[in-house]
Amino acid sequence: MNSKPNPRLNPIELKAQADRIRKDVVEVSVRNGAGHIAPSLSSVDYLIALYYHSLNHTGDPLDPKRDRLILSKAHGGYALYSILSDLGYIARADWDGFYKNSFLAGCAEMSLKHGLEAGCGSLGHGLPMAAGMAYGLKVQGIQARVYCVVGDGEMQEGSNWEAVQFAAKFKLNNLVIVIDNNGLQAMDFLQNVLTDRDVTEDLHHKFEAFGTHVERVDGHHIEALVEIFERWKRGGMDRPQVMLAKCIKGYGVKAMENVAKFHFRLPTEEDMAQGVRYE
Ligand SMILES: [Mg+2]
Repeated sequence: MNSKPNPRLNPIELKAQADRIRKDVVEVSVRNGAGHIAPSLSSVDYLIALYYHSLNHTGDPLDPKRDRLILSKAHGGYALYSILSDLGYIARADWDGFYKNSFLAGCAEMSLKHGLEAGCGSLGHGLPMAAGMAYGLKVQGIQARVYCVVGDGEMQEGSNWEAVQFAAKFKLNNLVIVIDNNGLQAMDFLQNVLTDRDVTEDLHHKFEAFGTHVERVDGHHIEALVEIFERWKRGGMDRPQVMLAKCIKGYGVKAMENVAKFHFRLPTEEDMAQGVRYE
């Protein structure tokens, strides 16, 4: 594989790349009948900010000094596949054959040589693994950072809060937790399930109470995302950092945006005819 290092795109290029990835995710997924499109579209912009600007990846997926990214909300992994394919970690043929005739499954399995750092089909496991990796890197004196993307609904899993306690106790300032705060979990809104107040407020209070540094951001505002990732990279933090990224599930396909039924439903031609936000 000819994997490429992080191209460090500028903001205009990052936005254009995000639109390319959105288009690619929708086209490949619809063609192959893979249903988790909406949770994948939620994740595009912060993944673009990382893989095309802030994440330290050199093109060598086994470089011990690489930053690690674990996508714990692995049901929404199509954007990650598309990005890793574009960067050469995953062959285009494997991404094109995804869900049908490829090693790429509906939820990402661990495959280090393809840039997939962990298998996370069962929710609530990525963050504990990320905390352990961050701890291990610190013990070894390796300056790499670990980024873990967790769904907001996924934060109902108790294992996540055990991991946050561990990360705060050991001051894992090399750990960044990105919460995909789209307000939906599977087929319903969080507030109808286990959250009894504003979802973002609720997560903000809980993460601060557990001893992490928390910041909120528009999860589709690429410059704002990059500003935070870059500032945290420069150091000065004495604890894990949590980004509450306010995202829109299905972002980019207007008929799918913030509509619960599209958790695992393919858009019809009529749905697509309502318009998209990418060229
Ligand atoms: Mg969610």
